Amino acid sequence: LATHFLARIQQSDLNAFLHVDADLTLQQAKAADLSLGQGNSTPLTGLPIAHKDIFVTCDWRSTAGSRMLENYVSPFDATVVSHFKEAGMVHLGKLNCDEFAMGSSNENSYFGAVKNPWDKTAIPGGSSGGSAAAVAARLTPAATATDTGGSIRQPASLCGVTGIKPTYGSVSRFGMIAFASSLDQAGPIAQTAEDCALLLNAMVGFDPRDSTSLERPKEDFTRNLNNDIKGLRIGIPKEYFSSGLAPDVEQAVRAALREYEKLGAVLVDISLPKTELSIPVYYVIAPAEASSNLSRFDGVRYGHRAADYKDLADMYQKSRAEGFGEEVKRRILVGAYVLSHGYYDAYYLQAQKIRRLIAQDFQRALTGPNRLCDVIMGPVSPTVAWDLGAKADDPVANYLADIYTLSSSLAGLPGMSVPCGFGQGEKNARRPVGLQIIGSYYDEARLLNVAHQYQ
Ligand code: GLN
Repeated sequence: LATHFLARIQQSDLNAFLHVDADLTLQQAKAADLSLGQGNSTPLTGLPIAHKDIFVTCDWRSTAGSRMLENYVSPFDATVVSHFKEAGMVHLGKLNCDEFAMGSSNENSYFGAVKNPWDKTAIPGGSSGGSAAAVAARLTPAATATDTGGSIRQPASLCGVTGIKPTYGSVSRFGMIAFASSLDQAGPIAQTAEDCALLLNAMVGFDPRDSTSLERPKEDFTRNLNNDIKGLRIGIPKEYFSSGLAPDVEQAVRAALREYEKLGAVLVDISLPKTELSIPVYYVIAPAEASSNLSRFDGVRYGHRAADYKDLADMYQKSRAEGFGEEVKRRILVGAYVLSHGYYDAYYLQAQKIRRLIAQDFQRALTGPNRLCDVIMGPVSPTVAWDLGAKADDPVANYLADIYTLSSSLAGLPGMSVPCGFGQGEKNARRPVGLQIIGSYYDEARLLNVAHQYQ
């Protein structure tokens, strides 16, 4: 398997992989072969996986898609990576992503854009564009990814693969290069919900080194896969089918909903009235946290340091000016602004209050004895993948494309993207569409069941 995938990676021109070390991978594969049948193997032993370059690793560089960390090698592995090593998986290397996971098209990577394998003139989505493209092109059967405001679900949707973002706090953030800590959550991207369930089994678990890690009993995410879904109540938020939704995406999503009705599910009209506010709220909170998290990159302790400088302040300025890309700088500026004295109450505090109201929208729909539905469904992205370059100079156009993924992230809820057909985009192309399934807290096993029954 390792030889097969390494050869495919070498032949690929998608720019999905950033760091590959074939010798190391083959060594791991040999070790996995030996451990098979030794009693300590797991369902994942010997299977290849690759990691978004936002997870630190001691075996490969960890760049977060940034010049700032171009040559950075971590002295330790992220908890997620250690878990997969312990499960006996064979690591193929590291995957391209938007710089510090900021973006929706993978065009913000210092190492260049990734191409969508279905149509190489299209973006793969972001920020986990390398992860989704690599799985879609069968360069790896599985990949890790992270989702702060949609970065697992949106690229999975645009590349026609399956991805799940579990409940915030389920997967350790230790060793995940931080973007917005109250939102960042890791999850798998793979071909199917069943594969995602097996991967989640290894990923999820309490980690004392992550202060927001959830302490919960270990669960088997495959346990409900084959449950019948007769009588399942699917909430259809009217705000997710509003005017901004492209007709080709709506058609594919509605066709999937009809399949669910055939499987015995019942569609229930619901409303998530604060959906529209999720964009301004997210684009205040995420940059605020990013500006704080990224202050550690000062040219002293990590990463890029300018070659010439006059004094300490000049070194900070030059190192950061050279090391960070445009989008990252924009977010640091916005974040520093909304956190500054005099603006904190007007922007940051207001955003936090609306964040709570957004979470309450979901709670009314999904939790308690009077809940309206068991899961929520809708599109992941308002359009299919757009052309490479089409929105590269328009940050707001990129932000608006996040409309259907941001609110569940702000609420900390689990969400999935499941392939549900193709759309034409604007030029009669054939580009994948994803169906989004959002569940209540800790309801991953149900989401995976609901996805598996459709697949
Ligand atoms: N597209 C969103 C952003 O640019 C989400 C990114 C993510 O989830 N990491 O912030």
